[in-house]
Amino acid sequence: MARQRIMSGMRPTGRLHLGNYLGALENWVRLQDTYDCFFAIVDWHALTTGYEDTKDLTANVRGLLVDWLSAGLDPERCTMYLQSDVKEIAELHLLLSMITPIAWLERVPTYKEQLQQLEGREIHTYGFLGYPMLQAADILIFKAGYVPVGEDQLPHLELTREVARRFNSIYGPVLPEPQALLTEVKLLPGVDGRKMSKSYGNDIPMSADEAVVRQKVQMMITDPARIRKADPGHPDVCTVHAFHKIFSSERVQEIAEGCVKGAFGCVQCKRDLADRLAGRIGPLAERRRYYESRPEVLDDILAAGRDKARKWAAETVEEVRRAMRIQQ
Ligand code: SF4
Repeated sequence: MARQRIMSGMRPTGRLHLGNYLGALENWVRLQDTYDCFFAIVDWHALTTGYEDTKDLTANVRGLLVDWLSAGLDPERCTMYLQSDVKEIAELHLLLSMITPIAWLERVPTYKEQLQQLEGREIHTYGFLGYPMLQAADILIFKAGYVPVGEDQLPHLELTREVARRFNSIYGPVLPEPQALLTEVKLLPGVDGRKMSKSYGNDIPMSADEAVVRQKVQMMITDPARIRKADPGHPDVCTVHAFHKIFSSERVQEIAEGCVKGAFGCVQCKRDLADRLAGRIGPLAERRRYYESRPEVLDDILAAGRDKARKWAAETVEEVRRAMRIQQ
């Protein structure tokens, strides 16, 4: 039986961090064995909020591909491509925009949120308003059966489904409505306890070497009320403990009990976490070294991804044109 198709993408806006790895990439690596996966480096999406400064875009595209490959995405088991290499997506975006009411785009919750968050940046643009529409084209062009999403992205997927329904009701059944493949997102705090984010400078990059990982763990905020080892600790307010929950789940209970009793010290606790993280990041670093030293392999992966993606995309666009009577 043919495998169900999945589509997802990431913007090339700079190095990924461990939070991105746990929040999405680790899941993608698992999905590539069960589904026919299309993973896009969505460079057009990067322009919707970053059109003024594109000097790093090319480097970021390659950096993101290396992050993916180091995480374990395998070009033999999934399709990785650059969005702007598949021009058919732009055509589908244009055609679908003809049937999509503006109000549908204005009511996407992240649109208003981002306008507020990015206040001061001139993003009251046609492209930014339309980015959920571009996402719809990204997904529908492959007739993806599923889209891996967290709860917060459900409104975007709902828009895609509505657009497909509207198209099908006007022109006949061409575009299947994709389903959500809800993924449990493991939330990793930054080293200062806030949300992990490059812009806060509290992240641990996926590309960090062991020395950087150890340094970052040293910077983590622990229980501020615990001055001496014998003081009873409160693991629930400690960033180190939040990391242990994810990376040392089999002994997290033991760590918490030792902390509460004042028997387990922060120095040892941080050392254990740094060892664990270094062990986890080691295989990623090895794959990273391999791909970073072979730029021609990166070119080949993107070229093969482009060819496969365009084959499917061309078929869908042809069907859409025919249904809309654009071409005989
Ligand atoms: S022992 Fe570990 S969990 Fe407890 S406060 Fe120190 S670092 Fe945090």
